[in-house]
Amino acid sequence: MVEMVGKEKMARRQNYVKQKHAKELERTESRLVAALVSEQFPKVSGISIRVVYHGSPSNPVLMVRTVNFFSSSHAYFHIQCIKKDCDNGGFDLTQEIMKLIRNKKKSGKGKMVCCGGGGPLTSCQAPISYEIALRYHK
Ligand SMILES: [Zn+2]
Repeated sequence: MVEMVGKEKMARRQNYVKQKHAKELERTESRLVAALVSEQFPKVSGISIRVVYHGSPSNPVLMVRTVNFFSSSHAYFHIQCIKKDCDNGGFDLTQEIMKLIRNKKKSGKGKMVCCGGGGPLTSCQAPISYEIALRYHK
């Protein structure tokens, strides 16, 4: 009986690892197929994203960082999650940035929660807030 449970657990774990690997591949691929910023958004000269990683109410700001993208970057705006046990999470700001560029906006901000898992049975849900600044060629 004990052995059965162990096997089942192992199978679940293996399946989980497989899924994790598939997701990682998918992400690498979407980065590779993404066009360069200069191709997809020829008017854009640079994009800065200021990210605030939020923690618990007693420790509301875990980290603040700015991520920069240039004309030569791939137009795939993925920000990494910093939670240690986060599984394949992160924050994909691609749609948000495309919307800003379409509307010729210079900045935008918002909040997002991590899409990753926190283990086989939980999800990460780590919150961030972000500010996007866009620079255009004159
Ligand atoms: Zn996460």
